[in-house]
Amino acid sequence: MITFCKKCLMPSSRPEQVFSDEGVCDACISTARKIDQIDWAARELEFRAILDGYRGDGSKYDCIIPVSGGKDSVFQALTMREKYAMNPLCVNHLPCDLTEVGWKNLLFLRDLGFDMIHVGSNRKAYREMVRLGFTKLGDSCWPEHIGIFTTPIRVAVQYQIPLVIWGENSQFEYGGPASKKDNHFLDRNWLEQFQMLGYRVSDVVHDGINLNDIKTFAYPSDSEILAVGVTGLFLGYYEKWDSKKNADTAIALGWNRNPGGPVEGAFNDIENLDCKWIGGLHDYMKFIKYGYGRATDQLCIEVRAGRMTREDAIENLKQTDEGKVPWKYIPDFLEYLSITEEEFTATLDRFTNRRLFLTDERGRLIKDEKGNLTFKYPIWEQ
Ligand SMILES: [Zn+2]
Repeated sequence: MITFCKKCLMPSSRPEQVFSDEGVCDACISTARKIDQIDWAARELEFRAILDGYRGDGSKYDCIIPVSGGKDSVFQALTMREKYAMNPLCVNHLPCDLTEVGWKNLLFLRDLGFDMIHVGSNRKAYREMVRLGFTKLGDSCWPEHIGIFTTPIRVAVQYQIPLVIWGENSQFEYGGPASKKDNHFLDRNWLEQFQMLGYRVSDVVHDGINLNDIKTFAYPSDSEILAVGVTGLFLGYYEKWDSKKNADTAIALGWNRNPGGPVEGAFNDIENLDCKWIGGLHDYMKFIKYGYGRATDQLCIEVRAGRMTREDAIENLKQTDEGKVPWKYIPDFLEYLSITEEEFTATLDRFTNRRLFLTDERGRLIKDEKGNLTFKYPIWEQ
């Protein structure tokens, strides 16, 4: 049995979910705090004082902004340049299989006048990392999470640009800036603990991957980081973060939303547009493990922001494809990994939490003709 937050749609099956005695999730509580208790003006002053120590005369880059080309990337880049007069270098880790709209949006950022480094990993080894993530860890985007966090630090070391401006980080947004000593964000341990599902880059040798083939995924050594003085800050700690507002601003400037409407399993058309697998398969695998997907995440944000009632969000969730097998890019994925549909489905079944989905008397998952499971605890039946 699972329960849901009384204020939003988040289920108790979410990993590390904490509910208050009143049945409210920690994200709803944090959001209320964000609105009521944070002195944003004081944080801006604090931020400006830090940036003054890094800002140059314009002849060099004075910060790195990790970008995917998404709406938040646009917000980060423009905020740093326009509001804080910094000269950023954007760093993009290319996903396994970039979508057309993802590429357009990366070009859009450069058209706004930003320089960008694209890091394209050895595609052969990257593919084996995706295979490992999919078959062993239940997350096809496992290497992508590593690349996104490792690449900017590698570029910071190589180009000797000490300041990295991250966006929002759900884990740490309310925990304090990375410049504080007690925050280990830039520490390799943090990456391994929170982003890598307990599987380290060095572990891949057991899966037949040569470390020499995945240099772009190697986190710089502590001495390399110390020599440059690399430090990271979350813009979301200093600026009140609103994904919807970021999207509206980006769209008004010409940024592209998903051309075909919402990404599979999502509620909106403004998130996770860059990689073919992250927009559907990644979120679907989350659904089969935990009973919720991207649409729930997105609708919770709408509810917490006060833009939608909980009742309307539940109605909207019913209309989405959350929990449906995301067939659109699956043929590409099968070809990418050279696997059959049967092998693909067997892997999904292995990662499906049988307590959350209907099974027959022999314990086999019950599916419809499109392969969709039956979730036992939809929120609208609570
Ligand atoms: Zn909640």
